[in-house]
Amino acid sequence: MVFLKTLKALGAILISLMILTFINGCGRQEISTIKKPLPPPESQQIEKTPDPVTIEITAVGDFLMHMPVVYSSWNPEKKDYNFASQLTDVEKYLSAPDITIANLETRLAGKENGGYSGYPQFNCPEQLALGMKEVGIDVVTTANNHSLDRGFDGLLTTLENLESAGLKPVGNYKTEQDRRPLVMEVKKVKIGILNYTYSTNGIPIPEGKDYAIDIIDLDSMKKDINYLQNQQTDLIIAYLHFGTEYQRQPNQFQKDLVSNLFNMGVDVIFGDHPHVLQPLDMQQNNFVIYSLGNFISNQRWQYSDSGVIVNVTIKKDFTSNTCKITEVDYIPTWVHVYWEEGKKKYRVVPVEKAISDYEDEQDNTISKSDYLRLKEVWQETTLLLNNNEDNILPRAVH
Ligand SMILES: [Zn+2]
Repeated sequence: MVFLKTLKALGAILISLMILTFINGCGRQEISTIKKPLPPPESQQIEKTPDPVTIEITAVGDFLMHMPVVYSSWNPEKKDYNFASQLTDVEKYLSAPDITIANLETRLAGKENGGYSGYPQFNCPEQLALGMKEVGIDVVTTANNHSLDRGFDGLLTTLENLESAGLKPVGNYKTEQDRRPLVMEVKKVKIGILNYTYSTNGIPIPEGKDYAIDIIDLDSMKKDINYLQNQQTDLIIAYLHFGTEYQRQPNQFQKDLVSNLFNMGVDVIFGDHPHVLQPLDMQQNNFVIYSLGNFISNQRWQYSDSGVIVNVTIKKDFTSNTCKITEVDYIPTWVHVYWEEGKKKYRVVPVEKAISDYEDEQDNTISKSDYLRLKEVWQETTLLLNNNEDNILPRAVH
């Protein structure tokens, strides 16, 4: 009975819809014959202020390309390196934001420039640039203590390889004329990006080429910030290569530099170099994470085997012409090393999802000991980074 009633009711709705469509169809024709009112004269037209927009800016730490990581990206069928394959599990978190920034802690100087190598003087196959682009990275920071690992020529080739892959490098420059902060415009919002390093590992910057690498120096930083302010940028980001390696707390130099830059007008600071995570903090409406940790590396020990994807959401209000940070969260990551068809593989995994995949028996590459380490990484990362005062917590990923 109930079924029959439902059927009848459905039939009635269908007929009413058909009638309505018919009436509407006729009506539309009539409306189209009505003369449109003339637009007001140009002087009376008020330019509409755009609605507020939100932009998501994401940063990850070091691409510290040790040779075991490089070798494991080799695809024997295609006879080529495939670095994107190591980032498949995090691709959606890198490609979805409006701007994604990563640090290139190696050189892409070409094999002919002294061969490929890992620590202490890095040189990675240039296919890394294609892999970074493929997974959604937009901006690559190049000012770090490995900027001169293959000399000035290596610096130039690295920039060419990044640019030809469609990435925007910042921190290293080919010429004096090129040396200026990066400005990106997204949804009518202007964002300035700066990148500096504390050193070049004792390798001197070639004479007359001081423009090639942005070194931490308050005077030149002030000039760069002024340049961005004159460009009327809505937000200034500084990505700093600084801190003490393997220390999980910032040192006094880092703290002082961060507060100086905030006072000068920087809004967001992403730090790296320590190869472990360091805390994050909101200071007034400014955000800092002192160290993003390693994103991918062969440093397999506690704290260096993990990192984070940090997401900063900003909102621009065109009426008041203000731009504010509205939300910050993070995704803990871990470098998973496993064996596949007798070959050692590396991949970056989101910690929470890898834990649930193991528990749900969805991923047989994760061993029991991987699982136990993942649980520790979750604890270590959230204990260090959770900031309830500013409501900065991990983003749920499943
Ligand atoms: Zn470094």
